[in-house]
Amino acid sequence: MRPVNGEAATLPGPLALGDPVQFVRGVGPARAAELAALGVHTLLDLIQHFPFRHEHRPRSQPIGSLREIGEPATLLGELRNVRSRSTGGRHLITADLIDATGRCKLRWFNSPFMEERLHHGAIVRVSGKTDLLRELAGMTNPQTVVLDPHDDFDKGDNERFEPVYPATGKLTSAEIRKIIHLVLQDAAMLLPELLPAALQRKRRLPALRTALLRYHEPVTAADIEVARRRLAYDELLLMQLAVRLRRQSWDARADAPILAPTPLIDERIRKRIPFALTAGQEQAIQDIRRDLSTPRPMNRLLQADVGAGKTAVALYAALTAIAHRRQVALMAPTEILARQHDQKIREYLAGSRVRIALLTGTLGSGRRGALIREAAAGKVDLLIGTHALFESDVTLPRLGLVIIDEQHRFGVAQRARLRAKGGSPHTLVLTATPIPRTLAMTVFGDLDVSTMRDRPPGRTAVKTMLTTANQQPDAWQDIRQRLLAGEQAFVVFPLVDESDSLPLKAVMTEAEHLSRGPLAGIPLGVIHGRLPGAEKDRIMRDFRSGKLRALAATTVIEVGVDVPQATIMVIEHAERFGLSQLHQLRGRVGRGDRPGVCYLFAETEGEVARQRLGVLCRTDDGFRIAEEDLKLRGPGELVGARQHGLPAFKAADLSKDLELLQQARDDASELLTADASLALPEHQALRAELMQRHGTSLDLVDVA
Ligand code: ADP
Ligand code: MG
Repeated sequence: MRPVNGEAATLPGPLALGDPVQFVRGVGPARAAELAALGVHTLLDLIQHFPFRHEHRPRSQPIGSLREIGEPATLLGELRNVRSRSTGGRHLITADLIDATGRCKLRWFNSPFMEERLHHGAIVRVSGKTDLLRELAGMTNPQTVVLDPHDDFDKGDNERFEPVYPATGKLTSAEIRKIIHLVLQDAAMLLPELLPAALQRKRRLPALRTALLRYHEPVTAADIEVARRRLAYDELLLMQLAVRLRRQSWDARADAPILAPTPLIDERIRKRIPFALTAGQEQAIQDIRRDLSTPRPMNRLLQADVGAGKTAVALYAALTAIAHRRQVALMAPTEILARQHDQKIREYLAGSRVRIALLTGTLGSGRRGALIREAAAGKVDLLIGTHALFESDVTLPRLGLVIIDEQHRFGVAQRARLRAKGGSPHTLVLTATPIPRTLAMTVFGDLDVSTMRDRPPGRTAVKTMLTTANQQPDAWQDIRQRLLAGEQAFVVFPLVDESDSLPLKAVMTEAEHLSRGPLAGIPLGVIHGRLPGAEKDRIMRDFRSGKLRALAATTVIEVGVDVPQATIMVIEHAERFGLSQLHQLRGRVGRGDRPGVCYLFAETEGEVARQRLGVLCRTDDGFRIAEEDLKLRGPGELVGARQHGLPAFKAADLSKDLELLQQARDDASELLTADASLALPEHQALRAELMQRHGTSLDLVDVA
């Protein structure tokens, strides 16, 4: 092994960033294994192992805490009993140092020049080895700083900023700090600057090396943010470059089927849609027709508030593809929604030759096998399903279009997998959760977006009421009256985890409670994610037909469920839901010709919760609500970011780096406009880092 003396400024052997961490002094196999568990294998990984926060620590320790003689220490206190004299031809200053916790002795030999500043009452910070002076702990010739009591304290001069690292049970943050310290200076010098000088100047960013050094070992409080900003900018810029390059390569492929909608096709499709399309729907259809007419694979996101009528637009796209003898996969996030799409589309297409099949996780294996064979033989035109469509034995040889409903539940990787099912299909994703700008620029940065802002005529906003515990008995009275008069209601309970069996009991218990109490005598059904498919079907059918007047449900009904005659939505423990989720839920009612009402039952009397929920009572605009939600809960909450293809950032924070992200996006665009394949010499470092970070990951699956 090559000896590496990290403390020395110069190293015996040449150090390389690719060296295994075991080359670092003090890192043996055991520590190397711990570091590996943290994703740190090389020297480069080590210096890019960033702290997730910094703790402000006083530079000094309390005098009363001195224990071991011979240990280095830093103390801060006030001088007392200062004396200076000559002994045996040597000049000597002695003093006591006191702080709130104790007293110790100090002495300085041959430092007459300090005499004037070391006066009674002076505030000093001393560092050195402790020794025993006349039975008291003390220091001889410590490093001494006389502080200005007015100035230095304000500037945080007496603080250190200790980085806190992601650590393991066996390797602490403090140990990691020491290991990094050993190599930081030397390793940082080897790191090439990533950014062209012009960009660095334009954005007033410190050099990469400086940022790295300061982020690990800040000198002042301001260092931390300046350094973080630079490191975060790099992460965001690389991501933006990756997104754009992926898009470029996508556009260049030009191998998707051309599905031009002829007037005849258009006429036939429109006959199947039982209402006049809204202007928004028409516009979205225009966008899609344009996309489908070229061999560049469509990659479009259709976003519109709940109830805006996205399904009809999707159906138009599907029928266009089918008219060209192509297969279409329509994927929904829940089984209930997949079944609903299946039923509705069958109604629309009654009597047509379009072959529709439904593939969900609860299909028996015999039925499933037969269905997969039919699909593979090209005998299915429209395959509707849940995640079950992902499974590898499902193939669609003439796949021309993939439609994904409620996009926010799916990630980039899944999208890619679906497309891998056959050829180079067009992709249309539908979402009712308006994607906040930050996310739109990240995960979805490579999508074209159509936004429908209008709604089918006659819709009115769902009247929404915040209902506190003491108002609930009255509310139930009202609800009961309306149900008896023929209306229909959803009652939603928040369950943390659908797959858990405990909450299921809870919803059953709650439903029982309702049918004994406020909803006595009213036909009530219970629906949740774990019911068998046929059972879900039966319950939804009974609710649709009006046989059941009320439906106690978990959030399985959140997405997409369309029962136009339902008018009442009751949400228990509304305070536990995100605003966008509540907006989705209330979007389940008032979809027909009668207006909807929504009761937000909130246990809390708290002002914050009240204000938060109040947003829903005041506005019906899903886009504004999503922005509020993002502010309040951060981006991860909104889309479950990690599992959904959002790259993990070490320094960037999407909930506060919006401006930086915008800058990175503009810069990425400028860079690629000037140098589309990053071939210029000043872009080599960026290019190499880009391939390293994003080349093989899902972010660039389509480039690879
Ligand atoms: P979402 O955008 O939430 O998916 P849907 O596609 O489920 O909305 O449509 C909501 C309801 O509005 C459905 O009952 C649908 O039949 C109806 N609808 C959609 N478009 C129109 C329209 N242009 N005119 C009248 N009703 C419409
Ligand atoms: Mg929908």
